[in-house]
Amino acid sequence: MAITVDVMSTSSPGHTSAAPTGGIAAEGTVTDRLVEANRRYASVFADPGMDARPVLRVAVVACMDARLDLHAALGLQLGDCHTIRNAGGVVTDDVIRSLTISQRALGTRSVALIHHTGCGLESLTEEFRHDLEMEVGQRPAWAVESFRDVDQDVRQSMQRVRTSPFLLHTDDVRGFVFDVQTGLLREIDPA
Ligand SMILES: [Zn+2]
Repeated sequence: MAITVDVMSTSSPGHTSAAPTGGIAAEGTVTDRLVEANRRYASVFADPGMDARPVLRVAVVACMDARLDLHAALGLQLGDCHTIRNAGGVVTDDVIRSLTISQRALGTRSVALIHHTGCGLESLTEEFRHDLEMEVGQRPAWAVESFRDVDQDVRQSMQRVRTSPFLLHTDDVRGFVFDVQTGLLREIDPA
């Protein structure tokens, strides 16, 4: 049995992804659409002349959820921040790797963690790994990092950042839950 999970089950219906918009040819794959959109982007793009260090010296760790537009939601401009995203916005070893490089090589000082309501990880369990093993004959090395309580999950993530021995700056680490229906952030008390 193939394992698929409907992570959108708790949310409102989305747009029709197949509908061509913005003058993009109806033929072709979705990636073809992206490449075409990039041609238009580049046609008006001006080199901002920045180096790689984020202007606001902040790294944002967030869920990959498609409803979370980090730059719009946080008033961020090009060059302002590092954005590190994965399923759940979980602080994995690889997120610590990125944060370590962000702080030690590229000068960031603050970390903002953003999880959200209606996350797909709330509908999964660690059984997902077992089911995968049954299907493909190999157990993944990674944890699913599913959770039941989003507030507690944010606290867990803050704790992982604050206790990392690799990071230089762990004083300004704050965690939030983004409400996908109102667009508002709710800050989570680390205690
Ligand atoms: Zn999510």
